[in-house]
Amino acid sequence: MRIHHLSCGTCCPVGGRLFDGTTDGAFAHMVCHCLLIETEAGLVLVDTGFGTRDIAHPTQRISPFFLNLCNVQLRPEETAISQLRARGFDPADVRHIVITHLDFDHAGGIEDFPNATVHITSRERDVALAGRGGAFVGPRRYRPQQWDEVIQWQLYPFGGGERWFGFDAVRDLRGLPPEILLVPLSGHTWGHCGVAVQSDDGWLLHAGDAYFFRGEVGSEHPSCPPGMAGYQRLMEVDRRARLTNQARLRRLSIDHADEVRVFCAHDRVEFDILGGA
Ligand SMILES: [Zn+2]
Repeated sequence: MRIHHLSCGTCCPVGGRLFDGTTDGAFAHMVCHCLLIETEAGLVLVDTGFGTRDIAHPTQRISPFFLNLCNVQLRPEETAISQLRARGFDPADVRHIVITHLDFDHAGGIEDFPNATVHITSRERDVALAGRGGAFVGPRRYRPQQWDEVIQWQLYPFGGGERWFGFDAVRDLRGLPPEILLVPLSGHTWGHCGVAVQSDDGWLLHAGDAYFFRGEVGSEHPSCPPGMAGYQRLMEVDRRARLTNQARLRRLSIDHADEVRVFCAHDRVEFDILGGA
């Protein structure tokens, strides 16, 4: 399997390094880290960032609250479909999309790939349909207009299943190679999952929004800039679960650093290191 790292969206919230820990000036720089995987079952996307319809109709598809708060930069060339084409792939060959969760900045590109089956936990789709993601942010984070035309969902139970480095894991995703697993990590949303992918160089774990800043993993002394910490609190549905899962990811990233490479959806430095730039 060949794995490509794509950023399918850019957000530049006010705060600079107080938000992302790195960027000089008034605005931070966050990516939407997605994977494109070439498999025998066709092309597989892990998360989709923002799609062409978000760019054509931003205020219909994305809540004005988040468009402004995140200062979403809608760039056609960053959509997954544009990046696939630029690499010489046919978007019709995208047969599967594995989604960490249905927030607006992960699900926006789904409908650019009508041939794809969308793999997700049933819990995440249920809470997204109900807008259950916090009283204020719930209806603003989940935008059914981004995924109400999905023809083929493949839903999985949340939790149970076999173990993967001490985590629950959903294996044998239907139609996908066994090297791709869902790893339930609730807290940011109720049905939020990481996606583990076994590559030739070991495991990758796309941790979605289970954490947001590189300093939250890989060290016994975690750190996070205040803006990013505040954003995580705004978006959490279950603080205890979020912090517990973040601590478990931190342990995994330290104890199994030579076997598993953990990364999150929005940290630009992680994205650049993994060859996405
Ligand atoms: Zn996100």
